[in-house]
Amino acid sequence: MDHIPSTLELLQDLLHIDSQNPPGNEQGMVDYIAEYCRKLGIPYTTYTYAENRSNLFITFGTGSQRPLTLLGHLDTVRFDSAAWTYPPLGGEIHDNYLYGRGALDMKYFVAAAMTIVGRLHAMQDRFNGPINVLFTADEETGSSQGIRKVLQENKVRDALAGSLVLNEGGGFATRHGQTLTYLFETGQKSVARLRVSIPELPDTNPYFPTLSHEKILVQVIRRLDALKLDTALPRSVEDLKRVFFAENTDFSASDRRLFETMSQSMITPTIIHGGSRNKQLPAGLKAAIDFDCRLLPNLGRQEFLDAIEKAIGDLPVTFELTSFSQGYEATVGPDLVYLLETALQKHDSEIESLVPFITPGSNDGKYLKPLGCDVLGFAPLSSEQPFSSIMPLIHGVDERISLASLTFCEQVLQDVCLTYLTGDTIRE
Ligand SMILES: [Zn+2]
Repeated sequence: MDHIPSTLELLQDLLHIDSQNPPGNEQGMVDYIAEYCRKLGIPYTTYTYAENRSNLFITFGTGSQRPLTLLGHLDTVRFDSAAWTYPPLGGEIHDNYLYGRGALDMKYFVAAAMTIVGRLHAMQDRFNGPINVLFTADEETGSSQGIRKVLQENKVRDALAGSLVLNEGGGFATRHGQTLTYLFETGQKSVARLRVSIPELPDTNPYFPTLSHEKILVQVIRRLDALKLDTALPRSVEDLKRVFFAENTDFSASDRRLFETMSQSMITPTIIHGGSRNKQLPAGLKAAIDFDCRLLPNLGRQEFLDAIEKAIGDLPVTFELTSFSQGYEATVGPDLVYLLETALQKHDSEIESLVPFITPGSNDGKYLKPLGCDVLGFAPLSSEQPFSSIMPLIHGVDERISLASLTFCEQVLQDVCLTYLTGDTIRE
């Protein structure tokens, strides 16, 4: 390969490859990236755990500095072509937007990482520490053919341990009045499923409905809805509140909702089981209700259960957590924030500040916390595609990235990687 293809060319090629999950088929993506690495002489390893499901790992550079890791997943969610304006595998450009499933989640980051690694490989003798790139399968449906298996490989574990990880999920613009702020993800909420069950009450009678199962159910919802869970907020959330809930800000209602979901623990009723014809409830139970719980990461499992017990009080019900995935918050020092902020501002001088947030969603990042990694959602998009505008496109129809965003991502990430790895300040 005489030259490195442009990030746009790479992304168009990646969008042509169908990696909808299910079923996955990330093999095509891995074959393409492996061919690219071979042509540029970049060492890589592939890990395959099921037919057509593959992961690819790159590591190079030496030095005592904490390693830097770029993490990207190769699968996408499914699409229904009929609903799209342009073909989801077409990689077509219309009005300066590139359309395709995965354009935002997250093949643009994969393409940018490929370009950057291609350039950095030739400069590795200047590095103070190694760089890793991990491209995974199966992120969209639980990662069982992806990062969860790859992290059992000693080579990958050892290289990734303790590293600073840049991943999807943040690096997005938000504007209020004249102020342009960027948000980056420094943690993920815990995700829990809570089931509250209402046993058959011995003395109920339809003619004297003083304590019906349905009434108890309503009371459970009311009490959990009124429950205030957050006593001490994580640091990142305090920063978010300071910026976004200060007086005299004029955010849209949808932005405010977004910030609220980032800064509070939330308990949402999702499924109610009951009724005389319901055959799915175990014997002895008359009704049950499932809650989806997104909790700030500093609230522990037991602390949460204690709070639920207290809120439910004397109601004749039982409850259990049917699942619990612990969230996390990365440790981010001022030097790192300065590095990211400076790279952003170099390519958009309008940007005033960079503020952390905790996401209510979850991705492969959570599997790296036990390895002592600090995982940041930092896959920057330009201010022409602000946070609120990309939310409906991720997993949605007509998923698209602006050409300006793609260039912005590649340039900002490259500056971050280069500055981090070589210690060179960003040249004007
Ligand atoms: Zn994703």
